[in-house]
Amino acid sequence: MATPTIRELLDLFERHGNSQYGGENVTQLEHALQAATLAEEENASPELIVAALLHDLGHLLHNLPENAPDQGIDDHHENLGYRFACQLFPQAVTEPIRMHVVAKRYLCAIEPDYFSTLSQPSVVSLGLQGGPMNEHEISDFELNPFAQDAVRLRRWDDTAKDPTVKTSPLSHFKKYLSEVAFKRSVE
Ligand code: FE
Repeated sequence: MATPTIRELLDLFERHGNSQYGGENVTQLEHALQAATLAEEENASPELIVAALLHDLGHLLHNLPENAPDQGIDDHHENLGYRFACQLFPQAVTEPIRMHVVAKRYLCAIEPDYFSTLSQPSVVSLGLQGGPMNEHEISDFELNPFAQDAVRLRRWDDTAKDPTVKTSPLSHFKKYLSEVAFKRSVE
């Protein structure tokens, strides 16, 4: 299969971005834009802004229903999104994407108050994803050089669910995509 281009990546948002973000009051596109805007506001690196924008790309790549978790199905979207993004971007983008789900399991284990901040759909998917990490999983997670980036991304992910928030359009973030993508992917 040919390597996708940035244009094809943006097309995925245009074609599938209007679907609801699993049980939340925002669409997939709104969720992605809010997460990327939060990253930009915190002066994150271009790579991490791109990771924030694309962290749920996997949801745009599968045909499972939006309420799959309510049916007991883990869509493993972090792995789908990771594999797609690996064709276009370096590890500083793809590792936080791959780790954004386990970062939730990590935060539930190390921060006593974190669980109570999760939305109901996030609590449902947590159960399917393995629940809070055990001691062994915590030390493994912390050994990954991108662990703290994944935790930052996770916090933006958890916040990016506000239907009243206004963000920049998708086109605003194209400059970051072009800046951090492997050369062959840029149009
Ligand atoms: Fe998300």
